[in-house]
Amino acid sequence: MAELKLNPMISKMDESYTVAIFSKVSNMKSRGEKVNGALCVGQPDFAPPPEAIKATQEAAVQGLTAYTAVSGTLELRQAISEYLEKYKKVKYSTDEILVACGGKQAIYQSMMALCQEGDEVIVPAPYWTSYPDIVKLSGATPVILETIASQGYAIDAAKLATAITPRTRMLIVCNPSNPTGCAMSPDQLDAIAGVLRRPENQHVLVLSDEIYERICYDGLEHASFAVLKDMWNRTLTINGFSKAFSMTGYRLGYLAAPKEIVKAASKLQSQITSCASSIGQHAGIAALNCDMSYIDAKVRELQEKRDLALNLLAKIPDVNCPKPCGAFYLFPDISAYLGRRTPEDETIEDGVQLCLYLLQKYQVALVPGIAFGDTKCLRLSYAATKENITDAITKLGNCLQSLTSAKKP
Ligand code: PMP
Repeated sequence: MAELKLNPMISKMDESYTVAIFSKVSNMKSRGEKVNGALCVGQPDFAPPPEAIKATQEAAVQGLTAYTAVSGTLELRQAISEYLEKYKKVKYSTDEILVACGGKQAIYQSMMALCQEGDEVIVPAPYWTSYPDIVKLSGATPVILETIASQGYAIDAAKLATAITPRTRMLIVCNPSNPTGCAMSPDQLDAIAGVLRRPENQHVLVLSDEIYERICYDGLEHASFAVLKDMWNRTLTINGFSKAFSMTGYRLGYLAAPKEIVKAASKLQSQITSCASSIGQHAGIAALNCDMSYIDAKVRELQEKRDLALNLLAKIPDVNCPKPCGAFYLFPDISAYLGRRTPEDETIEDGVQLCLYLLQKYQVALVPGIAFGDTKCLRLSYAATKENITDAITKLGNCLQSLTSAKKP
């Protein structure tokens, strides 16, 4: 057979560390080993709203099983428009909304529609693992903007100002953030908008990934970036059904943005997936109109779980973790333990080795920070049972404290 020639774009993309951990977890499970993999996945552990489940059944029975309009059914786009106006105080008409197979596809199509070779896209780090690769797929260059734990991983407006160049096409704002859980306040967001309002920065668009917007704690009021003064025209709002509505497998998300952007992203979608699932879209309408007290109760439970996880982490010496106000992730700094030796006399050089060792010896799966552009931390999701949270973090503590700094004789 002739040598298999792949698109050079493939080699520009990074291998996924999360996939590497996942495949080890499934191999261990298939060998009958007990593994606590609950804290390594980015999905909620509760059921979708009952109204959405009922609508799913209805859609199949009533024969709502055909292709829909590329940009999504008018009914769903109407429901999204009403949701955004009611809860986020931001106005989008139905032709300013594109329904896609997940927020991820909405982000991908937005980037492909607007960015190209020569452009720069500012990606605050730690970042959701897919952003840099999606930027690279568009031909643009990701420019990493560090955020720090002592500032709760909020984007620093002054640092942002220095990162913007004439080539900057877009800034990604993930609020609340995966992997840090950082939820920026309206004031912090307005400081970012202030930088973008400067005459020299008028060329910069914002991709505001708000997929975790309903999952905020401690009374934090989440603000959509598009409501900030002068920002609507320059903002691409991303949201979806995977997180607060716990509908990850429905593959349903959306982009809300000025009409021309939605039209371009829609044109791409027409040649990629045609449309999101008709059944999923019907369920999406029911989710947006569900009794929100169901979701609010789940968010309160998540806040309790965040506190449980933070208390357990605080018991481990030299592990630092800011208290985040959103999403369902913690990003503890474990760097004090890197370079130490295991009782089996193996040196743990980095977070990847630590995660592999934790998995092999303690049967606990966590994700190394490097998957999110950070070498000091690990990511854990506390959208899990309290038992699994306690088990995983206790074992992480036991694992770290079994490491010694003694050098090999
Ligand atoms: N953005 C962020 C920050 C996420 O964490 C995720 C899911 N992990 C997505 C977008 C995409 O979600 P989906 O495609 O399931 O809507």
